[in-house]
Amino acid sequence: MSPAALPWALAGLAVVTAGAFAWAHARARRRVAELEAELAAVKAADRSNEYRVDRFDLFWYPSVIYREAEKLLVRASPGVPFCRACVKALASQASQASQGAGWKCPGCGALSPESIADTAATDSIMREAVRFFLARRPEYRVAPELERLK
Ligand SMILES: [Zn+2]
Repeated sequence: MSPAALPWALAGLAVVTAGAFAWAHARARRRVAELEAELAAVKAADRSNEYRVDRFDLFWYPSVIYREAEKLLVRASPGVPFCRACVKALASQASQASQGAGWKCPGCGALSPESIADTAATDSIMREAVRFFLARRPEYRVAPELERLK
Protein backbone atom coordinates (compact mmCIF):
# COMPACT_ATOMS: atom_id res chain seq x y z
CA MET A 1 0.00 0.00 0.00
CA SER A 2 1.42 3.38 -0.97
CA PRO A 3 1.60 6.06 1.71
CA ALA A 4 -0.90 8.12 -0.32
CA ALA A 5 -3.52 5.35 -0.06
CA LEU A 6 -3.35 5.16 3.74
CA PRO A 7 -5.87 7.94 4.50
CA TRP A 8 -8.38 6.32 2.11
CA ALA A 9 -7.87 2.95 3.72
CA LEU A 10 -8.45 4.47 7.15
CA ALA A 11 -11.54 6.28 5.93
CA GLY A 12 -12.88 3.02 4.47
CA LEU A 13 -12.16 1.22 7.71
CA ALA A 14 -13.99 3.93 9.67
CA VAL A 15 -17.06 3.55 7.43
CA VAL A 16 -17.03 -0.21 7.79
CA THR A 17 -16.60 0.07 11.58
CA ALA A 18 -19.39 2.64 11.89
CA GLY A 19 -21.64 0.36 9.83
CA ALA A 20 -20.83 -2.61 12.05
CA PHE A 21 -21.61 -0.59 15.18
CA ALA A 22 -24.90 0.63 13.75
CA TRP A 23 -25.86 -2.92 12.82
CA ALA A 24 -24.89 -4.28 16.26
CA HIS A 25 -26.74 -1.43 17.96
CA ALA A 26 -29.91 -2.04 15.94
CA ARG A 27 -29.68 -5.76 16.70
CA ALA A 28 -29.24 -5.10 20.43
CA ARG A 29 -32.25 -2.75 20.43
CA ARG A 30 -34.38 -5.39 18.71
CA ARG A 31 -33.28 -7.96 21.30
CA VAL A 32 -34.11 -5.57 24.16
CA ALA A 33 -37.57 -5.00 22.67
CA GLU A 34 -38.08 -8.78 22.37
CA LEU A 35 -37.04 -9.34 25.97
CA GLU A 36 -39.29 -6.53 27.23
CA ALA A 37 -42.23 -8.09 25.37
CA GLU A 38 -41.40 -11.51 26.86
CA LEU A 39 -41.19 -10.04 30.34
CA ALA A 40 -44.55 -8.28 29.93
CA ALA A 41 -46.11 -11.57 28.78
CA VAL A 42 -44.63 -13.45 31.75
CA LYS A 43 -45.93 -10.80 34.17
CA ALA A 44 -49.41 -10.87 32.63
CA ALA A 45 -49.68 -14.68 32.48
CA ASP A 46 -51.59 -16.64 35.07
CA ARG A 47 -49.29 -18.33 37.54
CA SER A 48 -49.91 -21.32 39.73
CA ASN A 49 -48.82 -22.67 43.07
CA GLU A 50 -49.24 -26.22 44.26
CA TYR A 51 -49.49 -27.34 47.87
CA ARG A 52 -49.61 -30.64 49.69
CA VAL A 53 -52.45 -31.29 52.08
CA ASP A 54 -52.71 -34.36 54.30
CA ARG A 55 -56.43 -35.09 54.65
CA PHE A 56 -58.66 -38.18 55.03
CA ASP A 57 -55.52 -40.34 55.30
CA LEU A 58 -54.56 -39.29 51.79
CA PHE A 59 -52.25 -36.76 50.20
CA TRP A 60 -53.76 -34.04 48.05
CA TYR A 61 -51.92 -31.61 45.83
CA PRO A 62 -54.33 -28.72 45.43
CA SER A 63 -53.32 -25.80 43.27
CA VAL A 64 -54.26 -22.18 42.93
CA ILE A 65 -53.99 -19.92 39.91
CA TYR A 66 -53.29 -16.24 40.40
CA ARG A 67 -52.60 -13.05 38.47
CA GLU A 68 -49.68 -11.11 39.81
CA ALA A 69 -50.47 -7.86 37.98
CA GLU A 70 -54.02 -7.75 39.40
CA LYS A 71 -53.10 -9.29 42.77
CA LEU A 72 -56.01 -11.65 42.24
CA LEU A 73 -56.50 -15.29 43.09
CA VAL A 74 -58.55 -16.56 40.16
CA ARG A 75 -58.94 -20.31 40.60
CA ALA A 76 -58.44 -23.19 42.99
CA SER A 77 -58.39 -26.88 42.22
CA PRO A 78 -58.31 -29.79 44.70
CA GLY A 79 -56.30 -32.11 42.43
CA VAL A 80 -56.79 -35.86 42.76
CA PRO A 81 -56.19 -37.80 45.97
CA PHE A 82 -52.94 -39.79 46.33
CA CYS A 83 -52.29 -42.89 48.40
CA ARG A 84 -50.14 -41.98 51.41
CA ALA A 85 -48.24 -45.25 51.31
CA CYS A 86 -47.50 -45.44 47.58
CA VAL A 87 -47.87 -41.76 46.65
CA LYS A 88 -49.79 -42.86 43.56
CA ALA A 89 -52.87 -41.06 42.26
CA LEU A 90 -56.06 -42.90 43.21
CA ALA A 91 -58.38 -43.94 40.40
CA SER A 92 -62.11 -43.42 40.65
CA GLN A 93 -63.98 -46.72 40.75
CA ALA A 94 -67.36 -45.13 40.14
CA SER A 95 -67.91 -46.94 36.85
CA GLN A 96 -66.81 -50.39 38.01
CA ALA A 97 -69.86 -52.09 39.47
CA SER A 98 -67.89 -55.16 40.61
CA GLN A 99 -65.98 -53.22 43.25
CA GLY A 100 -68.53 -50.59 44.16
CA ALA A 101 -67.98 -46.88 44.00
CA GLY A 102 -64.88 -45.40 45.57
CA TRP A 103 -61.26 -44.61 44.94
CA LYS A 104 -58.61 -47.26 44.49
CA CYS A 105 -54.84 -47.06 44.77
CA PRO A 106 -53.20 -48.64 41.70
CA GLY A 107 -50.19 -49.52 43.89
CA CYS A 108 -51.49 -51.25 47.02
CA GLY A 109 -55.13 -51.61 46.03
CA ALA A 110 -56.41 -49.72 49.09
CA LEU A 111 -59.96 -48.49 48.65
CA SER A 112 -61.20 -45.11 49.83
CA PRO A 113 -64.87 -44.18 49.98
CA GLU A 114 -66.43 -42.17 47.21
CA SER A 115 -67.18 -39.41 49.70
CA ILE A 116 -63.52 -38.30 49.83
CA ALA A 117 -64.14 -36.46 46.58
CA ASP A 118 -67.58 -34.98 47.27
CA THR A 119 -68.02 -31.22 47.18
CA ALA A 120 -67.60 -30.70 50.91
CA ALA A 121 -64.37 -32.70 50.90
CA THR A 122 -62.84 -31.03 47.85
CA ASP A 123 -63.91 -27.61 49.15
CA SER A 124 -62.03 -28.30 52.37
CA ILE A 125 -58.91 -29.17 50.34
CA MET A 126 -59.20 -26.03 48.22
CA ARG A 127 -59.89 -23.94 51.33
CA GLU A 128 -56.58 -25.14 52.73
CA ALA A 129 -54.77 -24.15 49.53
CA VAL A 130 -56.39 -20.69 49.53
CA ARG A 131 -55.45 -20.27 53.18
CA PHE A 132 -51.80 -21.22 52.45
CA PHE A 133 -51.72 -18.81 49.54
CA LEU A 134 -53.26 -15.85 51.40
CA ALA A 135 -51.05 -16.42 54.43
CA ARG A 136 -48.02 -15.62 52.27
CA ARG A 137 -49.74 -13.03 50.06
CA PRO A 138 -52.23 -11.12 52.22
CA GLU A 139 -52.38 -8.29 49.65
CA TYR A 140 -54.28 -10.53 47.21
CA ARG A 141 -58.03 -10.45 46.61
CA VAL A 142 -59.93 -13.60 45.68
CA ALA A 143 -62.28 -13.94 42.71
CA PRO A 144 -66.01 -13.87 43.73
CA GLU A 145 -66.42 -17.59 43.04
CA LEU A 146 -63.67 -18.33 45.58
CA GLU A 147 -65.15 -16.23 48.40
CA ARG A 148 -66.69 -19.36 49.93
CA LEU A 149 -63.19 -20.81 50.33
CA LYS A 150 -61.80 -17.92 52.37
ZN1 LIG B 1 -51.25 -47.36 47.77
